[in-house]
Amino acid sequence: MNRNEMLEQVSSVDEWDIIIIGGGATGLGTALDGASRGYKVLLLEQFDFAKGTSSRSTKLVHGGVRYLEQGNIKLVFEALRERGRLLKNAPHITSAKAFILPVYNYWQKLYYGIGLMFYDLLSGKLSVGPTKLLSKKKVIGSIPSIQTKKLQGGILYYDGQFDDSRLAIDIASTAVKHGATILNYCKVMGFEKKRVPKNQKKIVAVKAVDVLNGKEYLLKCKAVINATGVFTDEIMQMDDPEQHHIISPSQGVHLVINQNFFEGDHALIIPKTSDGRVLFAVPWYNKVVVGTTDTPMQKISTEPIALEQEIEFILSHFNRYCKTSIERKDVQAVYAGLRPLIKIKGGGNTSLLSRDHTIIVSKSGLINITGGKWTTYRKMAQDAIDNAVFVARLAKKDCITLTLPIGDWNLPIDKNNHWHVYGNNANEIQSLIKENTSWQEKIHPAFDYTKAEVIWFVRKEMAVCVEDVLARRTRMLFLDAGAAIESASVVAELMMHELNRDEEWKQKQIDSFTGTAKKYSLQ
Ligand SMILES: Cc1cc2nc3c(=O)[nH]c(=O)nc-3n(C[C@H](O)[C@H](O)[C@H](O)COP(=O)(O)OP(=O)(O)OC[C@H]3O[C@@H](n4cnc5c(N)ncnc54)[C@H](O)[C@@H]3O)c2cc1C
Repeated sequence: MNRNEMLEQVSSVDEWDIIIIGGGATGLGTALDGASRGYKVLLLEQFDFAKGTSSRSTKLVHGGVRYLEQGNIKLVFEALRERGRLLKNAPHITSAKAFILPVYNYWQKLYYGIGLMFYDLLSGKLSVGPTKLLSKKKVIGSIPSIQTKKLQGGILYYDGQFDDSRLAIDIASTAVKHGATILNYCKVMGFEKKRVPKNQKKIVAVKAVDVLNGKEYLLKCKAVINATGVFTDEIMQMDDPEQHHIISPSQGVHLVINQNFFEGDHALIIPKTSDGRVLFAVPWYNKVVVGTTDTPMQKISTEPIALEQEIEFILSHFNRYCKTSIERKDVQAVYAGLRPLIKIKGGGNTSLLSRDHTIIVSKSGLINITGGKWTTYRKMAQDAIDNAVFVARLAKKDCITLTLPIGDWNLPIDKNNHWHVYGNNANEIQSLIKENTSWQEKIHPAFDYTKAEVIWFVRKEMAVCVEDVLARRTRMLFLDAGAAIESASVVAELMMHELNRDEEWKQKQIDSFTGTAKKYSLQ
């Protein structure tokens, strides 16, 4: 993927079959679905790919144990199918993960045991591992830091885990391989409409601006898909200023801690917190992600900030269930994301709002898709493209993403090897060292990321600023905000040379990244 090549493609196409707004899980998946069916597809993202909610998840490819308890079997069934497909289609970036649910009395063991066996049963042939009842001794053996007071035993079950923003990049590059044109840092500003019979106006073009140089575009198209997550209402109102809001944003926060506070490979699930939610502690890239919360928000921000009560909530719940007590100073990174939940009349608690996806087609033909989960992005994309084909009367073509490989990889994959997330590109990245031997150096002593990877991100993954590299190509900002800040100058120096920028650009990048990264730190 190369941004200049993408810009050339934008200028050379007269009319697109489908323009997709939003480069998160939903938009990128939709671009891949459309391009792999053979449609002429353009995706526009106002910031970087996965800058929004799609880099801020709990990193689970899951059916959703909580939704099963709420009785939403159809949602869980569909998500479990998608979980199985994603684990097969992108094995370099996903893996099965063992979870333990601790129980404190016999009835809990029976209740959750039956529930989690049913959860596995629902996944059918796409099961990732059998549910088992565990003794107290086995639970302590698997999670040494678990609070043992009144502990009776536990239930072991399996779900999936992934790297959300790396998967986003791989979906983008696979879409490009299938002929899609994909642009980051290109914001949609409005629509051009044309009157059609029955006195209706249909969208015929999208107005967009390249935010890196201010160049404006009018892009003709047959169909437009709005996949902008919590920004859905903003785009719907560009289409129809009278449109009422359909999104009820809900914030979820995660704290990232060192593994010495939570040893072992198993993840912990607390099935019911004081506000009725599920809380996870999940080992990820040699750290542990603990979360999340569900806080209704009035304001939408591109950099949502964790509220004090959310941080306290996670700390106190972790400390209630683990002997290794954590404090604010032990938190390596904190990140917040906004769920694009669909409103129900009368408002209320967002943790009860539907996690299912919704498609609304406006009078002018704008196809709005929102809700859902990362896990179900493929199915959401399929539904969005089916709607676009119908609305724009495109020639019908079958969806092929059920078994379509994402990224470029060969089995077996060694998940203990730092390079596994790049699949077969790992060799090409390592061979960059021949061009400059200093690129084999690490960008930070505490992480395995090398300078060669930074060069690769600029050349092949459309990274244009330090944040793209440290937040979403590598995951340093989400794993250790302090280390990410310490790495900013090395990354900025490398990018300055690679992008032909000057010292002033470099300093601005360091300052801007440091400003953002401080919000991910509790120190
Ligand atoms: C705390 C939390 C934890 C979660 N954990 C999980 C999990 O473990 N597993 C799971 O399956 N799901 C999880 N989810 C849900 C999942 O992350 C989301 O459903 C998914 O990421 C939504 O993707 P999206 O593409 O719809 O939205 P986004 O990722 O927000 O993408 C929308 C994009 O549209 C862009 N955009 C907006 N306006 C414009 C414009 N005018 N022009 C161009 N681009 C524009 C934005 O910049 C943004 O990048 C979690 C969600 C949260 C909040």
